Amino acid sequence: VTGAQASGVMEPAGQDYQDARAPVDRRVESLLKRMTLEEKVGQMTQIRLGKLRGNCEWNPGPLREDCMKAVLEDAKVGSILSGGGDAPNPNTPRAWAEMTNTIQKYALDHSRLRIPLIYGADGVHGHSNVLSATMFPHQIGLGATWNPELQEQLGASTGRAMRATGVFWNFAPVSDIARDTRWGRYYETYSEDPVLAGALAAANVRGQQAEPTDGTAKLTATAKHFAGYSEPFNGHDRAPAQLPIRYLQDTVLPAFQPQFDAGVGTVMINSGAVNGVPAHASKYLLTTQLRDRMGFRGVAITDWEDIRFLVDRYHVAADYEEAIAMAVNAGVDMAMEPSDAAGFTSGLLAGVRSGAIPGKRIDQAVRRILKLKFELGLFEKPFVDVEKADAIVNGADRALARQAAAESTVLLRNDGVLPLSTGAGKLVVTGDAADSVPRQLGGWSVGWQGVPDWSAMPEAVTVLEGIRAAAPSSNVVSAPAQADAVAQAGDADAVVVVLGEDPGAEGESDTEEPALTAAQQGLVDAVRAAGKPVVVVLLTGRPQVLGTVADAPALVAGWLPGSEGGSAIADVLFGAVNPSGKLPVSWPKTVGDQPFSYDQPRGANTVPSSGYDPAFAFGHGLSYTTFTTSAPTVKSAEVRRDEQVEVSVTVANTGARDGTLVVPVYVHQPVSKVLTPERRLVGFTRVALKAGEQRAVEVTFDVRRLAVTSGDMDGSGKPEVAKGDYEVVVGEERTRLTVR
Ligand code: BGC
Repeated sequence: VTGAQASGVMEPAGQDYQDARAPVDRRVESLLKRMTLEEKVGQMTQIRLGKLRGNCEWNPGPLREDCMKAVLEDAKVGSILSGGGDAPNPNTPRAWAEMTNTIQKYALDHSRLRIPLIYGADGVHGHSNVLSATMFPHQIGLGATWNPELQEQLGASTGRAMRATGVFWNFAPVSDIARDTRWGRYYETYSEDPVLAGALAAANVRGQQAEPTDGTAKLTATAKHFAGYSEPFNGHDRAPAQLPIRYLQDTVLPAFQPQFDAGVGTVMINSGAVNGVPAHASKYLLTTQLRDRMGFRGVAITDWEDIRFLVDRYHVAADYEEAIAMAVNAGVDMAMEPSDAAGFTSGLLAGVRSGAIPGKRIDQAVRRILKLKFELGLFEKPFVDVEKADAIVNGADRALARQAAAESTVLLRNDGVLPLSTGAGKLVVTGDAADSVPRQLGGWSVGWQGVPDWSAMPEAVTVLEGIRAAAPSSNVVSAPAQADAVAQAGDADAVVVVLGEDPGAEGESDTEEPALTAAQQGLVDAVRAAGKPVVVVLLTGRPQVLGTVADAPALVAGWLPGSEGGSAIADVLFGAVNPSGKLPVSWPKTVGDQPFSYDQPRGANTVPSSGYDPAFAFGHGLSYTTFTTSAPTVKSAEVRRDEQVEVSVTVANTGARDGTLVVPVYVHQPVSKVLTPERRLVGFTRVALKAGEQRAVEVTFDVRRLAVTSGDMDGSGKPEVAKGDYEVVVGEERTRLTVR
């Protein structure tokens, strides 16, 4: 520590680490060697906005100089976040930009080395923190699009909106796989399948992290929650997971790999425990797997307050100081909202001084954090243009939102009721989600639990409004109450029943009854009794067990479709859009079917309820046209383990309407030494076909996708591709593939 550092004198501008033309690694080393230990541990800390304003805790209110001093100057904290719903008042893009600029300026002016802050927030379906932003469908709906290009566009749009408000770190996308509909965060995931989830998440990351063309610094996405977070053993958020190593390596971790390969800048750690060890204390997960095997090079951040939980939730550490050493030594680079910030930084310092945390580990973490800040360009562009924020964010990309919601929509059943006619006639619209912005947007929408009561409503088109706009010459009757709906159904031409669930986030959305309620089923039964065509639209974040609704004449899954949900659902109901969504998850028949997925290992009893017997299978989704798919062929029927397989099929639209077909490619392994599923998804493509059009399409996949962890129960091995015979399966057709 030099004299200047010790006395806290500001370093002059023009230091070599401030030279934007110098290589990033040189800038990092030059800066790192000037930093005191206090400055280093400050960089490893992320504090919530609430601590800079109001009562320096939770209360909203204006930023306060003394609160900022404590966090930014005294504790030298390097990152601030808005936990869900933590926004400026008024909650406008401009106010966000002013707020983040003010915090950034304070930090720079009071940082001896002028290290910029990085501000983080959850933009999990658009910049869902801002009242006037466009909210896209939640990930579970986007999973049904099977459309990586679209995810890239959505990521780019979200990134642009967040950057415009000075937020350069987005805690999204979620890479956890959907395995249990009881779990409250099911809707935040893309799919039950790691190949589909991984491909969509990686595309989203590419979009978010794209080089800005609007003059701001870049943004980093986050792969979360590493790993096994979606697998609480009883479906309750953050309950421990019991994951056989084979399942962890062959199914859970592969969903993350494509994001690491795409260069995602940060990883957020699973709040839960896996196989008896909290992820935040697991060197195996955070170093052996994350770094050594999967090659992640960025910053690993904790989830909210999770180091403290090593003491008072998990009881694996006797005190906070021990917990800090445990987490940092396992591989944590930054602590998100350590509830006691001073305790965290002083605990880190104490750990280094006592030798419990090697100084080298601190340097490694800080190197990663500085590297991120340099690579994003925050040293050069710490501020944003307040004048531009409103124009960039307000209602941006509504057309994209509508497209995303339409492509998300899955036509589950249709006995000919759909598409509806836009011509004159009487349409009755009913159900708890027919005209409800909160139900349509779901959780993480302005408020953490969804649109908060106290705020103005974000602008969104509900299904009722969408139907009115799509069928202006029809007599559209809104019947919110059941009795009304039944009375109105008598002389209706069709009845649309829109059913949803309460918006919510995290543990508050857990349920032991992931099913339509008796009242919801009763409403559908009652309007069906009137004998008129009935269409049931489900706006839910999980595939609800349907009960008596299972055989409704037309059944549409719209998920949580966002700001343009109502327009998009109407597009599908009236046929302006031919539905192309395919289930990214298996739709269970019974509540007891959890956890549930199509890729269960072979060996289940043949009694249906103990095997895979869904209401609607993974990949299911109807269209208003018909398609045929030829038998697959492979370019080379013999491949080596490091090669690619090129699969070709010919697809045709044999109906009278244009449409889009998703072609999933699976692999079946006739004989395997460890149990494998009947089929595993290895790749997919999406093809738009005009009526009558026929086309050859190709799907390429890496032979490494076939890897499984071999060996007997010790499971200590790494995944490997077994040599021998496989089959490539498309639809009901298959072709042989041999791995040499
Ligand atoms: C959630 C994370 C989120 C964080 C910050 C936590 O409670 O688990 O997914 O990124 O809060 O809002």
